[in-house]
Amino acid sequence: MADVICFYCNKKFDRTKEAYEIVYGKRYAHKKCFNQVENLQTFLKQKMGQYYSYQKIRNHINKLTKDGYELNDICETMHWWYEIKKGDPSKSNGGIGIFSFVYPDFLIYKESQEKKSLINKNKQLDDFVDTTPIEVEIKPTPVRRPRIRLFNFE
Ligand SMILES: [Zn+2]
Repeated sequence: MADVICFYCNKKFDRTKEAYEIVYGKRYAHKKCFNQVENLQTFLKQKMGQYYSYQKIRNHINKLTKDGYELNDICETMHWWYEIKKGDPSKSNGGIGIFSFVYPDFLIYKESQEKKSLINKNKQLDDFVDTTPIEVEIKPTPVRRPRIRLFNFE
């Protein structure tokens, strides 16, 4: 047994049984969580430019998951914030402290997106049933030629 707590999702795991990465010193993370955060860091670095701070963001994520937020939600929210809401990085102070303030808006956005995709799905189903004819292609049966026996082993 070598139980450690994942720095990024704050769940306990046995590092002799699960793939892990060292975050720094003796702080460990699931390999999966580590990679997810690295992807988010790359994205934020692009969006925040000169305001970006790797360490600040790393520590914010740790604090947020300790407060009970899911890593997935943090990643999705920050993508939404910079990609769709065009958030202003100069107000970020280098970190993602903004998360707790914008998360409720993100949830509303997500819910409306899910409703939209559900409506589209239903619409497509209706269209299919009502108007789309089903065409069945009938292929001619291939003629089987009898095989010619070259050898007789009897
Ligand atoms: Zn984890």
